[in-house]
Amino acid sequence: MRIVLLGPPGAGKGTQARRLAESTGMTHLSTGDMLRSEVASGTELGLLAKKFMDSGELVPDSDIIAMIQQHIADPEGVLLDGFPRTLVQAKSLDKALDHANLPIDQVIHMSVNTDELIRRLSSRVVCKECQTPYNLEVDPPVKSGVCDQCAGDVIVRDDDRPDAVKNRMKVYEELTAPVLDYYQLHRNVAEVIATGTPDAVFAKLSTAIRSGAPFN
Ligand SMILES: [Zn+2]
Repeated sequence: MRIVLLGPPGAGKGTQARRLAESTGMTHLSTGDMLRSEVASGTELGLLAKKFMDSGELVPDSDIIAMIQQHIADPEGVLLDGFPRTLVQAKSLDKALDHANLPIDQVIHMSVNTDELIRRLSSRVVCKECQTPYNLEVDPPVKSGVCDQCAGDVIVRDDDRPDAVKNRMKVYEELTAPVLDYYQLHRNVAEVIATGTPDAVFAKLSTAIRSGAPFN
């Protein structure tokens, strides 16, 4: 079973993917984590990727796909998180995986409405001085607005502010709508409304994977 997990920033994709991997025995392939680990272990790909990342450029799709291909044959199944994000990436990935006769079996789209995302993302705050992260809902600083570590100001990051979140959502939707359209033509796509508690979302995702069919 090879599954692609799609969802906007703040949908809880990473957290849910880790939990699902744990409960199903599938391997969680987070392209972000994989890249960081290639860089950390100084592999050929890691060195190449670091060059792009240091200059603020995106790592080329072909390199990411090569990295995915190294793990895609995992017999326990894989859960792909963070890739593909664009139609071009989805098509290139399909081409590579079809060639290896290891196609994507299921695509799960986690959708969250913008108001909910704004609420979630604006509860994420960070110390302006030492960058310690806090969450106003589950892990706030002891004294409101003041860092526990260094007494610096605790603020909402610029890209977590409501206007920025709306913009990130717009970009995500523009890039992802064609990916979903593409997958809907020839893959099993499950729509999961990812609102509610993390446990409730996890239950819906687990059911979607078990049934392997479109599901809310
Ligand atoms: Zn601090």
